[in-house]
Amino acid sequence: MDCLVDQGQRTSGLVENMSAQLHFLVLTFPLQGHITPALRLARRLLAAAPDALVTFSTNEAAHRRMFPAKPAADAPHDVAEYEEDGDGRLEFLPFSDGTESGYVRGSDSAAFNEYMVTLGAAGPRSVGELLDALAARGRPVTRVVYTLLLPWAADVARERGVPSALYWIQPAAVFAVYYHYFHGHAGAVIDHLHDPSFLVQLPGLPPQAVRDLPSFLTESADPSDCFHGAYAAIRDLFDSLDRDAPKATVLVNTCEELEAVVLSSFGAYHMLPIGPVLPAGDEAGLFKQDDAKYMEWLDTKDANSVVYVSFGSLARMAREQLDELLQGLEESGRPYLCIVRKDQLVEAETEPPEMDARPRNGMVVEWCDQVRVLSHAAVGCFVTHCGWNSVLESVACGVPMVAVPQWSDQRINSGLVESEWRVGMRAEVGSDGVLRAAEVRRCLGEVMRERDAAGDVRSAATEWKHAVVEALGKGGSSDRNLMAFVEGVNGGVQL
Ligand code: UDP
Repeated sequence: MDCLVDQGQRTSGLVENMSAQLHFLVLTFPLQGHITPALRLARRLLAAAPDALVTFSTNEAAHRRMFPAKPAADAPHDVAEYEEDGDGRLEFLPFSDGTESGYVRGSDSAAFNEYMVTLGAAGPRSVGELLDALAARGRPVTRVVYTLLLPWAADVARERGVPSALYWIQPAAVFAVYYHYFHGHAGAVIDHLHDPSFLVQLPGLPPQAVRDLPSFLTESADPSDCFHGAYAAIRDLFDSLDRDAPKATVLVNTCEELEAVVLSSFGAYHMLPIGPVLPAGDEAGLFKQDDAKYMEWLDTKDANSVVYVSFGSLARMAREQLDELLQGLEESGRPYLCIVRKDQLVEAETEPPEMDARPRNGMVVEWCDQVRVLSHAAVGCFVTHCGWNSVLESVACGVPMVAVPQWSDQRINSGLVESEWRVGMRAEVGSDGVLRAAEVRRCLGEVMRERDAAGDVRSAATEWKHAVVEALGKGGSSDRNLMAFVEGVNGGVQL
């Protein structure tokens, strides 16, 4: 697993003997794509500051899924805490979101917006109680770090005199798009919503087609949209950042090398790129690992020969799409490892899939250890929905991509993959939104073609992998930025 950076060992300076014990409360929205980078950051903070404490908190439903074997505490902030690593520096304590089972994606189109309203009422109360309980236990929190969709977190911290930092878990480019939209440039988007190919020019960013902008802006600004709650949360987030005096701090899961131009053009907040965060040991998550012996299967394959396919933790897939995908993979003649959870299939309730019977040249499994898979020498390409964690993991492992973006930030992410870093290509989907078998074949033929020309995506992927390893290593850009955050000082300025 040569892409796994031992971030603990590579961290340059160690923060010791500080007057008050550092204690970070890392708060995260309860989705896998948020929990993963939040937990990785928690471990990096512990490695950077060997005396620091970290309390990791997500909602109760996700907490129960992460730790199914542990007995539930009587109350969310009970001292029946969940300790890891034996030394008690990392604790897991859930907050209440006002629900029993959290947000459950289903056929009810109002469910997400209703959930966000419930969370917005119960979350601040519960996180406030958590901060008070930790202080009462003699472990006061010295800094709150929160992921997106929790726009109230900074206010809860402020009320108690605790500084906070946003942890942005999407590209800096997407942060900049949202920032400018909510700071005087909304009209440039709204006026052209009817023209998806119109190129919007925002400060410091390359022109972006309206269709590629985050769907939370182009679709969910409409109050009747089923994800309007996400739009409102991002709007409120910028409102909150702007109230943070003198300047808000934003940790970004990216590195300076990957997004140099946009990061350098951005002066509104203290932007600290500290990524890409990568696993440093076992990771608790929401999904159970498939028992299938996919690593052993990969061991039997030639270097760079296997196509790995995953559309992340949230994407849903129609039967027709799955059939086209598997047909394209089979026809490509290449071995493949494809992730499909049964609950991900749109028709799962009515037509139980018989996935095990289908593949001839590959494996279909429900959930794998993705970074281990991407780190395997046999994997030559990643067909991905371009969730930001997946993109960063692929870059960190030097694996070229076929991008099949769907919503949220994914289309901008695919633009970074294809045009900015040139480590992959974007597949074309039909007007019905379906990726056809022929397109799967075409893209795999392109991305996996052996070439020695300078435009080869594989050599670009290898170069970016080295850049990322350097950024994370001792004295690298992300390492320095993380230390600045832990020490509370950046460029001589108090954070
Ligand atoms: N993932 C995994 N096993 C799988 C599929 C995905 O561990 O079989 C992880 C992947 O490594 C990534 C996360 O799930 O860290 C998905 O996050 P991403 O931002 O890519 O997409 P999302 O799920 O938020 O759409």
